[in-house]
Amino acid sequence: MKIYVAVDMEGISGITSPDQCTKGNALYPEGRKLLANDVNAVVEGALAGGAKEIIVGDLHDGSLNLSPFDLHPKAKLVSGTPFTFALLPCLDDSCDGVFFVGFHAKAGTLQAICEHTVNSSSWHKLVVNGEEMGETGFCAAIAGEHGVPVLLVAGDDKVCAEACELLGPIETAQVKTGLGRHRGLCLSPEESAKVLKQAARNALGHKDQIKPFTLSSPVEIRLTYKHTHLADAAHIDNPKAERIDGYTLAFQVEKLSDWFGRWGKRF
Ligand SMILES: [Zn+2]
Repeated sequence: MKIYVAVDMEGISGITSPDQCTKGNALYPEGRKLLANDVNAVVEGALAGGAKEIIVGDLHDGSLNLSPFDLHPKAKLVSGTPFTFALLPCLDDSCDGVFFVGFHAKAGTLQAICEHTVNSSSWHKLVVNGEEMGETGFCAAIAGEHGVPVLLVAGDDKVCAEACELLGPIETAQVKTGLGRHRGLCLSPEESAKVLKQAARNALGHKDQIKPFTLSSPVEIRLTYKHTHLADAAHIDNPKAERIDGYTLAFQVEKLSDWFGRWGKRF
């Protein structure tokens, strides 16, 4: 059994501030330590649940956040650039399932830690096929293009709720409770590791009941930017899009990965 562990950083246990997730900041080394703690707990759980091969994809800004020295020896790491955030590098149809670890709620979610969608300074709202979607949905759909189901989502209470609403009764691991954008009630790293390990193991126990998340094609995308000049730039890249208003573009693509690979780079 082959499991892909997609890792973001804002939803890692103990992380409540961008200062812990941003290279060059005094708190970043602590963030990396917390990141490795969560990832390795999930790897342990996956191994206990029968996984034979585990690939960890570091998706957070720059993709050099998880130090190879800190990684569980049984896992392999996809690290470094260039790649586009949600394309889940090295995930293909040979994977039996994907875990989302350190994920955060979509932009605008009330009392969700570090909520945003793809880029917190430019994207205000993403609507896909009529449904507001964050990174959990976006990445689930990319995995679904390969026929790979999401088996586990880990992060704060808000992203866990978002995942269940969108993906159905999948396994979730709540490692903190959001009290505001930059405040949370967090489990200790030791307790988080226990919760994550058990959740990963449980997820593999009922993986056969979980179906991949797929979008009907063509995929209708409506993206609202935070500023009109960002929408102007996106419209130059994608002139066939309909300009709904100063902030918003609407367009169709055959599949989500086509769009993100071509135009999503201009955040
Ligand atoms: Zn991130």
